Amino acid sequence: YAKRQGRDQFCVYTDAMTHEAHDLIYKSAGIRRALENDEFELLFQPQFDIVAPTIIGAEALIRWNHPELGQLSPDAFLDVAEQTGLILDIDDWVFKQVAALVSEWKSQGFNLDGISFSVNFSGRKFFEPGLGKQLDDVIAMYDCSATQLVLEITERDMMSRFDLSAATIKDLRKRGYRVSIDDFGTGYSSLASLKNLPADTIKLDRSFILDIVTSDRDLAIVKSVMTLAEELGLSVVAEGVETQDQVDSLISIDCQYAQGYHFAYPLREDQWMLLLSAYNNALPRTS
Ligand code: C2E
Ligand code: MG
Ligand code: MG
Ligand code: MG
Repeated sequence: YAKRQGRDQFCVYTDAMTHEAHDLIYKSAGIRRALENDEFELLFQPQFDIVAPTIIGAEALIRWNHPELGQLSPDAFLDVAEQTGLILDIDDWVFKQVAALVSEWKSQGFNLDGISFSVNFSGRKFFEPGLGKQLDDVIAMYDCSATQLVLEITERDMMSRFDLSAATIKDLRKRGYRVSIDDFGTGYSSLASLKNLPADTIKLDRSFILDIVTSDRDLAIVKSVMTLAEELGLSVVAEGVETQDQVDSLISIDCQYAQGYHFAYPLREDQWMLLLSAYNNALPRTS
C-alpha cells in the first residue's frame, strides 16, 4: 500500500490495520484534496413536464474528475464521504456551487423564470441544526432565491428520523425552498405516512418505472401513488424514464413530470444551458 501514498499524505498503516480501514483513510485524503483542488463538478439532468412538453428544471449531480482515475460517479466516493463526515463538506460545496451557477447564468442574461434546480442532500446535512439559516446565508451572497431551489432528501433518510425531517421540511418551506422526497418507494414508508409529510414533491424511484409498460401491477402501484399524492397536494416526478413507451404509460395515468435518459443524460453546464435555451427558447437577451 505504501506505494500508493502520496508524499505528503497521512499514513498510519500498521499490520493490524485492516485493508478497509486503510482504504478509508486513503480515499478520504483523496476527497479532501479534491475539495481543495476543485476536482468536483456538477452535471445537470433536465427535468420535464411531459404534457406541455417543456423543461421545468434540472437536478445537480456530482462527479469527481479524478486526476488519475478519470471521471468518477457518486457510487465511487459517497460511501466513504458518508463514513468520514466529509459528505458535509461535499454537500456544502454542491449547494454553494448551484447558487453561484444560477447567479452566473442570470448575469449572462439567461431567463431562468420557472426553472428550478434540485440539490441532493445527505441525511447528515439535512439533519444539521440550523440548516435553513445556513442555506439562506449562502444564497444571500448570490443572485439566487430560495424559490428556485428544490432540496432532495431520500425517503430512506427521511424515514430514519421522521419527526426531525418533518420539522426541517416545514422550516425550509417557510423560507421558500421546495423539498422533494427522492427514491420514493424504496424507503419503506407506508403510503399513509405521506399524510404527515409536508414536502412538495416525491420522486418515484426508477425501479417502479422500469416495468411500467409490461407489468399491470407496476402500473397500478404508480397509479395509486399518483392518486394519493394528488389528494395530498404533492407533485410526482418519475425517475429513470428510458423509453417512449414509458412516457406514454406515464401520460396515461396523468404523471406529468419526468426525468431520465430518454429525455437527456446528466449534462455538462454549458450543454445543459444550450439545451434549455433551445428547448424553452430562453435565449440570452442581447441588449
Ligand atoms: P439520485 O438523486 O436518485 O439521482 C438519479 C441517478 O440516476 C443519477 O445517478 C442519474 O445519473 C441516474 N439516472 C438518471 N436518469 C436515468 C435513467 O434513465 N436510467 C438510469 N439507469 N439512471 C438514470 P448518479 O448521478 O450516479 O447519482 C447517484 C446518486 O448519488 C443520486 O441518486 C444521489 O443519491 C447521489 N448524489 C448525486 N449527486 C449528489 C450530490 O451532489 N450530493 C449528494 N449528497 N448526493 C448526490
Ligand atoms: Mg436526487
Ligand atoms: Mg432518485
Ligand atoms: Mg438515488
